[in-house]
Amino acid sequence: MNITHIEHIGIAVKNLEESIKFYETVLGLKCYAIEEVTDQKVKTAFFQVGQTKIELLESTDSEGPIGKFIEKKGEGIHHLAFAVKNLQSALNHAKANDIKLIDEKPRRGAERLNIAFLHPKSTNGVLTEFCSKSE
Ligand code: ZN
Repeated sequence: MNITHIEHIGIAVKNLEESIKFYETVLGLKCYAIEEVTDQKVKTAFFQVGQTKIELLESTDSEGPIGKFIEKKGEGIHHLAFAVKNLQSALNHAKANDIKLIDEKPRRGAERLNIAFLHPKSTNGVLTEFCSKSE
């Protein structure tokens, strides 16, 4: 599988600006990028913590995945993302082990990463993401 580290932790928030304040003022982290990912109907804010990032996700559309998540479960941890060396082979490996995939093929995520999600029903309720740097 070749997981190198936890790339990021995705946190669903109602209001990006309000949530950034906690990370900056209380935790003393610096938001280094805000990016809209239209494909996923989210606006994201990033903080670096060692090798790992915190990715805040605000929905730009109540019908999008984060909008639906917040409606169902409220704000909170949304997904866990592992950095892998070879994304397609990691997906193939998961599939071969009967893990249900949301994405059969890598797609483009924030920060120019290639990403793919595993279905939380196969992963103890944790929406799991693999990502790798695109060439
Ligand atoms: Zn993510």
